[in-house]
Amino acid sequence: MRIVLLGAPGSGKGTQGEKLVTQFGIPKISTGDALRAAVAERTVLGKQAKAAMDAGELVADDIVIGIVDERLQQPDARKGFILDGFPRNTAQAETLDAMLKRMGSGGITHALHLHVNDEEIVSRLLERATIEGRADDKEDVIRNRIDIYNAETLPLIAYYRAQGVAHTVDGIGSLEEVFQRLVAVVSH
Ligand code: ADP
Repeated sequence: MRIVLLGAPGSGKGTQGEKLVTQFGIPKISTGDALRAAVAERTVLGKQAKAAMDAGELVADDIVIGIVDERLQQPDARKGFILDGFPRNTAQAETLDAMLKRMGSGGITHALHLHVNDEEIVSRLLERATIEGRADDKEDVIRNRIDIYNAETLPLIAYYRAQGVAHTVDGIGSLEEVFQRLVAVVSH
């Protein structure tokens, strides 16, 4: 299985992705986690990414593509993977397809779209802000991330629908309910 998770910030991609890792025994690749680690370690890449992340903007395509390309080369990703937070725009999706082709792998098998309305997203992210204190969980930055998601990432649902692999799943409900919906789609 080569899975892409699509969903607004706060839609539950990270949490559900972890549960899918346990269920299917394939690694999760999260560009957000990789970028936050780079920022914390103050690497060159982290320094380049920080300003965009703090503003809720997308980090440059070549940076995130480099992260994913390197990670996909590792042997554990050969049996499949779950991508969380990548691709986030059409250029990234096209590059990913080209990468998989170059590696001699098949294409994406499931693009799972976790659907949660904007109102619920804002309230979840504001709550997360008080718990985790992530730098980009402030209301104006949250609004910006949602706007960018709607403008740049939502069109990927049509992109993957054209490949016959897109599935929208209702992201409202308990963690376990949402997870069972995802498992049902993937196991079908
Ligand atoms: P969320 O889904 O909650 O917005 P992520 O943890 O996936 O957060 O990403 C945090 C930030 O990292 C994004 O707002 C963006 O600045 C950057 N980022 C992550 N993935 C990508 C990507 N594929 N392309 C560009 N920027 C990215």
